[in-house]
Amino acid sequence: MDATGHPHRRAMLTGGLLAAAAALSGCSSKSTPKTADAAPRKATKTAAPDPRPTTAKEAFARLMEGNKRWVSGNLQHPDRDPTRRELVAQTQEPYGVILSCIDSRVPPELLFDTGLGDLYVLRTGAQAVGPVVTGSVEYGPMTTGTPLIVVLGHQRCGAVEASYKALREGATLPGNLQAIAEALRPAYEQTVKRPGADPVDTMARAQARLTAGDLRSNKDLAPLVKKHSLAVVSAYYSLDTGQVEVLSGAPS
Ligand SMILES: [Zn+2]
Repeated sequence: MDATGHPHRRAMLTGGLLAAAAALSGCSSKSTPKTADAAPRKATKTAAPDPRPTTAKEAFARLMEGNKRWVSGNLQHPDRDPTRRELVAQTQEPYGVILSCIDSRVPPELLFDTGLGDLYVLRTGAQAVGPVVTGSVEYGPMTTGTPLIVVLGHQRCGAVEASYKALREGATLPGNLQAIAEALRPAYEQTVKRPGADPVDTMARAQARLTAGDLRSNKDLAPLVKKHSLAVVSAYYSLDTGQVEVLSGAPS
């Protein structure tokens, strides 16, 4: 099934990687839609007015347009119906990867006003990363050519605040929460040097910037960034206004 143009971009990739991608996402091109007779007509109706972004710049613009709607309340709730579900049931080609916090007030699909199959979304406390999370972020760009990664920090982040206090006091957070604090240590150390008026907020912004920087320069993603087929953006979400503010890496 190629209603979304999926194979076109995937043709750039190696066979082994494609096989792994297909196995993981269930998006093998060998699949035959059970609703083949009905799907194309419905698919055209949904997809035609709103073609999928194919570049980092287009993808980023799409997200920011959605965020404007979220801020203003003029929401479209795009692609959230059975027709869309049918369209993406056999294959997917999200145009963005969002790495954000687990905070219940920061749901990427809502604050960017996106629909089913638009985004790969990863959420960890304060966007803390480790090998599994990094691998999951890499999945879209490395297998289906997803052109954009956004690392989204936010206002009044509880995970950042707890980590800041624990690291400052040399305390150990309970359970596995300490792993989050340790993952945030680089952001903490940067914050200590220039804390600003609100150190926790400074650290939240630093965490998004540093995480995006690490992804941008890692050995697997850096080549994609270099040839401009991928942009890695850091951003900050205001709980008060709903607005997403770009911190670094916006595609031009
Ligand atoms: Zn948070």
